Amino acid sequence: MNPFSEPGVWLRGNLHTHTVNSDGRLTPEEHAERYREAGYGFLAVTDHGEYVDTRGVGGGGLTMLQGEELSAGRTGAGTLYHVIALGIGEALPFQEADPAVSPQAVIDHVNEVGGIAVLAHPYWSGLTHGEAMALKGIAAVEAYNHVCELLNDRGEAAAHWDHMLTAGRRVNALAVDDAHSKEREHMPDDSFGGWVVAKCRDRSEKAILEALRRGLYYSSSGPTISGVEVGDGEVSVTCSPAKKIAFVSVPCLGVCFKAPGDSLTGASYSLRPGERYVRVQVTDSRGGRAWTNPVYVE
Ligand SMILES: [Zn+2]
Ligand SMILES: [Zn+2]
Repeated sequence: MNPFSEPGVWLRGNLHTHTVNSDGRLTPEEHAERYREAGYGFLAVTDHGEYVDTRGVGGGGLTMLQGEELSAGRTGAGTLYHVIALGIGEALPFQEADPAVSPQAVIDHVNEVGGIAVLAHPYWSGLTHGEAMALKGIAAVEAYNHVCELLNDRGEAAAHWDHMLTAGRRVNALAVDDAHSKEREHMPDDSFGGWVVAKCRDRSEKAILEALRRGLYYSSSGPTISGVEVGDGEVSVTCSPAKKIAFVSVPCLGVCFKAPGDSLTGASYSLRPGERYVRVQVTDSRGGRAWTNPVYVE
């Protein structure tokens, strides 16, 4: 699915946010106001072990999505798996932070009720690639989590994502804030650092969830992707000024174009025999990155 060849409206959104209903500092209303002012089109509140109905705080161009984050199970490192449920209509029927609840049971439930299951910050959580790979039914992996990057320099998890793609799994990426808006010493605000830009039929909750399910979006922590074209054995991208444009693939491992001073604004890649997917990753000199979802060749 290529969002650039689909009709609709582009909307920017953040899909991972904590409020006073768990360990965030702001209310849903305060978050909504900030994201609305920043020009966002949608926002999901995903409190730890708490489902908060936020439909009443949307409006003014901002659509609220309903969600929850649940910590469950136990990794080999002794940490818990964190799963984000988006597009659910009621609380998840599990105890928060219960090692006896398997993350797979949470993911299965989210899918059974028609929600979208996301593996949150696998690198920050200390998941091995094998542990991430063992989970089935994940719609997306957080390739970038902004607060994890600010707190521990462990926000990027594109390698976990690529290993799933290499194994033939069809999984999308997300870049998210995981905003808590706490005042922490030596740490900037954790809002507006990771987002998705989705092509939606309209601004309704239903249309936004459909775009997310279909992978009609790209993710970013800085650069803008303005076009992706797929055809005649070639994938082309145009973007905001960048220092690197990588076409990531297997088994040929793609290619990475580089230029000094953010002088790249586009690149093309000819698909090679046997390639199963290609995704594009754009990096600018300020350290921002953008990730398209995979283009599947077969
Ligand atoms: Zn988490
Ligand atoms: Zn979180």
